[in-house]
Amino acid sequence: MTAPAPLIDQFNRRISYLRLSVTDRCDLRCAYCMPERQTFLPRKDVLSLEELHKLALGFIDRGITKLRLTGGEPLVRRDMIELVKALGRKLGDGLEELTLTTNATRLAEFADDLREAGVRRINVSLDTLDRAAFARLARRDSLPQVLEGIAAAQAAGLTVKLNTVALKDLNQAEIPALVEWAHARAMDLTLIEVMPLGEVETDRFDHYLPLSEVRAALDARWTLSDSPHRTGGPARYADVAETGGRIGFITPLTNNFCEGCNRVRVTATGQMHPCLGGNEQVDLRAALRSADPDAALSTALDVAMKIKPLRHHFDISAPGGAPAVARHMSTTGG
Ligand code: SAM
Ligand code: SF4
Repeated sequence: MTAPAPLIDQFNRRISYLRLSVTDRCDLRCAYCMPERQTFLPRKDVLSLEELHKLALGFIDRGITKLRLTGGEPLVRRDMIELVKALGRKLGDGLEELTLTTNATRLAEFADDLREAGVRRINVSLDTLDRAAFARLARRDSLPQVLEGIAAAQAAGLTVKLNTVALKDLNQAEIPALVEWAHARAMDLTLIEVMPLGEVETDRFDHYLPLSEVRAALDARWTLSDSPHRTGGPARYADVAETGGRIGFITPLTNNFCEGCNRVRVTATGQMHPCLGGNEQVDLRAALRSADPDAALSTALDVAMKIKPLRHHFDISAPGGAPAVARHMSTTGG
């Protein structure tokens, strides 16, 4: 039998990285991400543990080597660790890296299990170290648990990278302090521009902060030099001479980061989005629940490769602040 063909899109980009959302639910309500009264998906629509596993194996068969589990908050899903353990068995057998993105509220509980299952690096989202500001931004007073989670992950031997959404007037002034805090604890920190995904109560444009502005402020403070470091994602890194650490910049709005895109995303209901910033969609749940799931899944992946767009169509200043894409980041998976 011949090996299944790798995933190559219509623009000849090799797709090797899957971000798989295991739930759209979350224990926080970050104001830029979702409204306070978010409507979550009915549980029956969400893929079962077995379906998530089968789906991931189908992708690995087609050459996906890096798998990031995300959400919503992946660690609020009850059987999440079972999935991590099952997928961990594919490490070294097609899969090169298994990782996750988490808000860290429940990380203290799961850090050892993650490490044992083969996870080595995780991304933790942290926008502020100020407890009151955190409670306002995430609408939950959970900073102490998050800090405990980060410490537990490091103690368990996981490499932690922080992700920080840069927000004008909200955490802008604190960014250098966050970087210093991270670097003092051997963590890289990546800054992200806020993206117009899904309706929220606030106008994101009010807090949109171009990273070019943040970079200029950091350049004035420290000696930054561009780094060749890459993690397979869209971040571009700079080394900071004074702190000895690295800062990543993810600039979907001010730069075109689509050229070398190697990623696709799947929601917790099995909808595949070949582009985070596009409305293209392929129903993998229907494929998984069909009479011949293996063949149907592989065909669906071929369809996705034909419709993955060249680039996203974000525009933060769209009239009325309307989101470019109706899905929230918590649905598509960060
Ligand atoms: N709950 C987990 C967490 O917060 O890390 C995983 C999912 S969350 C949707 C993934 C990442 O997306 C987080 O770093 C979050 O800050 C980011 N995010 C959410 N909404 C965003 C938006 N509209 N623009 C830019 N980043 C966003
Ligand atoms: Fe939850 Fe992550 Fe969205 Fe915050 S960014 S509300 S932690 S899914």
